[in-house]
Amino acid sequence: MTNIILLGPPGAGKGTQAGMLVEERGMIQLSTGDMLREAKDSGTEIGKIVADVMARGDLVTDEIVIGLIREKLQGDKKGGFIFDGFPRTLAQADALGELMEEQDETLDHAIELQVNDEILVDRIVGRAAEAVAAGGTARADDNAESLKIRLMAYYKQTSPLVGYYHAKGMLQGVDGLGTMDAVKNEIAGVLDA
Ligand code: AMP
Repeated sequence: MTNIILLGPPGAGKGTQAGMLVEERGMIQLSTGDMLREAKDSGTEIGKIVADVMARGDLVTDEIVIGLIREKLQGDKKGGFIFDGFPRTLAQADALGELMEEQDETLDHAIELQVNDEILVDRIVGRAAEAVAAGGTARADDNAESLKIRLMAYYKQTSPLVGYYHAKGMLQGVDGLGTMDAVKNEIAGVLDA
């Protein structure tokens, strides 16, 4: 069983690629962003605590997201886990390593989706517009102001994980600028090597 981390800034395509891996390989997507949005929408205590932080674009506390992930690791492990948007800090990365060890699981690859900032802004603004055009509402944090903060959070707090996983011999860089299928094929190359 293969367990992977998808690393990359907001809008890099982590969620899209994770969705395809779920479809095609029966893997389990663990997106802390999705879990937090669910908590917010269903009005749980955690949801109330995180709503403002998320809308602003800052990271929620390590304690909260580690707690969410800890719960999910107890369940079914079928096709392996895809960690999507977690870990985002060095403390989360250390905690994930320990949690996996407790479960007798290994982390196999940290796959970095490499993109550039202009693309991210276009993609996220496009994602917001598409949601509205489809009659829905855009994510509260898919706006220019929050995006700036989300990008800064990525570069300050999350991008050190690239070096961290490189040092562990787990890092695999993938060109995130190609089509969805091109990126998918590059990821498949990593998983099937
Ligand atoms: P995402 O859907 O992954 O872009 O996450 C949306 C928002 O949820 C982020 O901007 C953070 O506010 C919060 N969030 C998601 N995952 C984490 C995490 N691992 N650590 C801290 N905050 C997170």
